[in-house]
Amino acid sequence: MLEGLSSSLQKALGKLRSKGKLTESDVQEAMREVRLALLAADVNVKVVRDFVARVRERAVGQDVQKSLTPGQQVIKIVYEELTELMGGTQARIQMAAKPPTVIMLVGLQGAGKTTAIAKLGLAFRQHQHRPLLVAADVYRPAAIDQLHVLGRQVDIPVFDMGTETNPVDIVRNGMAEAERQGADVVLVDTAGRLHIDDALMTELEDMKSTIEPSEVLLVVDAMTGQDAVHVAETFHERLGVTGVILTKLDGDARGGAALTVRAVTGCAIKYVGLGEKIEPLEPFHPDRLASRILG
Ligand code: GDP
Repeated sequence: MLEGLSSSLQKALGKLRSKGKLTESDVQEAMREVRLALLAADVNVKVVRDFVARVRERAVGQDVQKSLTPGQQVIKIVYEELTELMGGTQARIQMAAKPPTVIMLVGLQGAGKTTAIAKLGLAFRQHQHRPLLVAADVYRPAAIDQLHVLGRQVDIPVFDMGTETNPVDIVRNGMAEAERQGADVVLVDTAGRLHIDDALMTELEDMKSTIEPSEVLLVVDAMTGQDAVHVAETFHERLGVTGVILTKLDGDARGGAALTVRAVTGCAIKYVGLGEKIEPLEPFHPDRLASRILG
């Protein structure tokens, strides 16, 4: 995970670590390498520019902390700014004041939405909730089947009405079913397409305004880098996404999406997908990823 970025940043900063004294040119050189490392990781150009400027400004005007060498202080600043770039603190799920909490998952086909819904169900169950999965992707019968298969695998109930009912009615009936079953969290799988299209967006907008979910979580594939960020921008403009689930981070050596999506869209990453195996979805901790990147 993020091995490429991690090794190039560690290389860029490693030279500073042992230095007792830092000259301005040491900092300049390190910042140049940090900039190249971030660009090679497919981080958005403007995000890189602002990031490096902030680190440089703080590094030059830094308060002297006796416990750290100047080099260690620069590394600490990079760590803090990386954490901030990814949202600072853990962004939590907004639960409904009156259950059930309805969460819509949206995203392009193949991003890992169905997998994420099963994993999210497990994460809620781990916290003593009773989730119900609702299959509202009426365009792909296979998507409904896949959700049933995963639901059985994790022993979480799945509600569907086939492909002939419109998604809003499915969710309404799903809520009634949740009440009947005593489920307090309703996770809605929506239609994905291969590309963003207007019809998909309009339908998701209608669905959102009718069911007023507590969260609209966008599922994006980390391995698609800046494309994932563009997808997030478009979905956010139309839908007002409340958080991102960044999948396939386990296979992403570069980290462009992880480092950019929050800065460009303002949407916090709330969870990350770290494998194909169906395990509870992992909450995203910016500070932990930053320290993992810096080693
Ligand atoms: P959907 O079309 O968005 O519903 O995508 P799926 O949930 O069917 O996932 C597409 C593929 O990505 C499947 O082969 C999943 O096993 C795989 N996948 C999903 N999430 C992850 C993840 O976090 N890591 C890895 N390595 N693979 C994932």
